[in-house]
Amino acid sequence: MCGIVGAVSNRNIVPILIEGLKRLEYRGYDSCGVAVHQGGQLKRARSTARVAELEAGVAQDGIAAGTGIAHTRWATHGPPCDENSHPHLDQSSQIAVVHNGVIENYDQLKERLLKAGHQFASTTDTEVLAHLIGEH
Ligand code: GLU
Repeated sequence: MCGIVGAVSNRNIVPILIEGLKRLEYRGYDSCGVAVHQGGQLKRARSTARVAELEAGVAQDGIAAGTGIAHTRWATHGPPCDENSHPHLDQSSQIAVVHNGVIENYDQLKERLLKAGHQFASTTDTEVLAHLIGEH
């Protein structure tokens, strides 16, 4: 079962996001990731390994910010891989989404968005949500 953590503060919340994911690990997951607002843009790190590896990755990439979201994934649409790990971004890379569950009509939505020129980076249902929000 997937897990979602979000935090907003005037200090660096990345350790809070990582700690939150560690507390959710017992629920089971196949991949994990974080996205934060840093320096006027979204920075993202994802992993198909354990949260500890994600933690090392965010440290290595210098990811630190006051606003962010994080996710442990239990795949329903698309195999576990970096591209399918959450968070997913919209077309402009200004919106990041994490999601728990299934978007039943994602294939109709995706077909419409593809016709409108959207390009998708994953095979998940969730990425459709990011693009849909971005479109509106
Ligand atoms: N359906 C989404 C996916 O396959 C979310 C799965 C979950 O709840 O972790 O990425």
